[in-house]
Amino acid sequence: MFENLSERLGGVFDRLTKQGALSEDDVRTAMREVRVALLEADVSLPVARQFIKAVEKKATGAAVTKSVTPGQQVIKIVHDELIAVLTGDEDPGRLKIDNPPAPVLMVGLQGGGKTTTTAKIAKRLKEREGKKVLMASLDVNRPAAMEQLAILGTQIGVDTLPIVKGEDPVAIARRAKTQASLGGYDVYLLDTAGRLSIDEELMAQVEAVRDVVTPRETLLVVDGLTGQDAVHTAENFDARIGISGVVLTRMDGDGRGGAALSMRAITGKPIRFVGLGEKMDALETFEPSRIAGRILGMGDIVALVEKAQEVLEAEQAERMMKRFQKGQFNMNDLKAQLEQMLKMGGMQGMMAMMPGMAKMQKQMEDAGFDDTVIKRQIALINSMTKKERANPDLLQASRKKRIAAGAGQDVSDLNKLLKMQRQMADAMKKLGKMGKKGLLRGGLG
Ligand code: GDP
Repeated sequence: MFENLSERLGGVFDRLTKQGALSEDDVRTAMREVRVALLEADVSLPVARQFIKAVEKKATGAAVTKSVTPGQQVIKIVHDELIAVLTGDEDPGRLKIDNPPAPVLMVGLQGGGKTTTTAKIAKRLKEREGKKVLMASLDVNRPAAMEQLAILGTQIGVDTLPIVKGEDPVAIARRAKTQASLGGYDVYLLDTAGRLSIDEELMAQVEAVRDVVTPRETLLVVDGLTGQDAVHTAENFDARIGISGVVLTRMDGDGRGGAALSMRAITGKPIRFVGLGEKMDALETFEPSRIAGRILGMGDIVALVEKAQEVLEAEQAERMMKRFQKGQFNMNDLKAQLEQMLKMGGMQGMMAMMPGMAKMQKQMEDAGFDDTVIKRQIALINSMTKKERANPDLLQASRKKRIAAGAGQDVSDLNKLLKMQRQMADAMKKLGKMGKKGLLRGGLG
């Protein structure tokens, strides 16, 4: 999901990473593009504006000077701001359903995924929280919808209220309430009727049902692919019915994703869950950090920056970055990397955070790589002359023997180190060549 937005932001930040320092102008230029990207992703204009303003203020502030690279710092600020906008006080996955039987009203337009989501939530409550759940369909205009819920109920092992022909929605809601009490249910989910668009009759009906059961939660189910329409739908339902949360469906598709951001910013309502497919398990608790990470589409680069900031001198990192971008990576660079890895929780911790390094990480794990190995490798590098470190190609047999002996190790150990240095130099070269796209996607950028 969010492909468009992530690519767009990726392009903007790739450009920034190539610059030494980040001026106010740079930030402004970047923010113009971020703004276009947000609008293209169907984030509403006021939300985009507000978002940009907050990011701009933070990016031109003092924090930037301490960054690994200015671009990475901006990425992190954008990322943090996305999370700030997307996060509320509540725990999205925890519905307020104490005091059984708790009524939960499911509302939304037809085709948004309401019935599917009702069943997904029922399954989740049953399996994760051990709740006894009852579902009832109030969609009297569409018998097929009522049957669909019954079929899903059988499939997931959750009871549904028996269908009685000719009953109106309010009567069904009353019956569900009674049945939930008598049957000792913890929760009952009411799948209300949808319409193709918002109309008075629909609203009046949902309102009447609401007044009969006084729902503990009223969840609006909207198609996440519909962008701003989804936000308008939420505003309408909230104004008339009052909603307590939102479920965004079809987030498995390549939608424009802005809905999540606008939804939260405009309605102030928490996004509780996201639907990620048609299967009954394809429902996830809404996670601001995950969504923000996906919007940016940069693996865990943000975590990498955070960690790097703790241990890296900004200038040193910048110097190294420039060398890497040129494809330069000698034994001094390797030594610096190895020392950082020790500081950052070892090879595994570091590699795991760099998307492009997964393969190398695997090789190192296979080779039984750990901190002891890192220390031994540093000892080998220490045993080299300055010249040798700067130009590892000098290392012929006699030099190798001397260096290995100096570190109390075998030539084969040194050969492994040389191989690793060559691989990393190659990787750096490739990243440098990929430039714009590669540096961030491939890690290290
Ligand atoms: P309702 O009219 O709002 O009750 O919508 P339904 O629950 O009947 O869903 C309409 C269609 O969307 C069905 O084919 C569902 O399988 C599908 N659907 C629901 N949620 C999702 C989702 O998160 N991802 C995908 N890909 N399809 C979904």
